[in-house]
Amino acid sequence: MKDKEIVIRMKSCGLDELSEQDRHLVECAKNATRNSLATYSHFHVGAAILMDNGEIVEGANQENAAFSSGTCAERSACFYASARYPGVPMKKIAIAAWTKEGKPEGLDYEDYFQTAPISPCGACRQALLEYEAMYGPIEVLLYGRDEVLVLPSVASLLPFCFTEF
Ligand SMILES: [Zn+2]
Repeated sequence: MKDKEIVIRMKSCGLDELSEQDRHLVECAKNATRNSLATYSHFHVGAAILMDNGEIVEGANQENAAFSSGTCAERSACFYASARYPGVPMKKIAIAAWTKEGKPEGLDYEDYFQTAPISPCGACRQALLEYEAMYGPIEVLLYGRDEVLVLPSVASLLPFCFTEF
């Protein structure tokens, strides 16, 4: 029996170290959090996808009293992107989130964003992976106030991913 390991390569930087295009995409994800319907979790997530045609499609989590009927920001963004621009590859996705839970009232809006990079849930990784399998790598930018992580693909977030479809 042999030991094996999986190495995930990514870049870590500050927001100001990103290219202008990437910084703009992160700002779009941050803006998208304003459209979140986080009635139950109070955790406002936004996602912004850069399409191959230059368009940016945003999504935000939409919660529902029947919990499983709601959806995450990442899936709301990629499903809308595919419905709005069918056949157009997705090139990059940026994700950002904030909550007031556990934080004092009266902070600046920016200060409610998570300090650590926010990353997509397993279901969203699988959903994004299917578009990546169709069109090629989707770069992933995970925003945190203290650090931004840049991953080369959705697959890099999902080792042993299910791709035999
Ligand atoms: Zn999700």
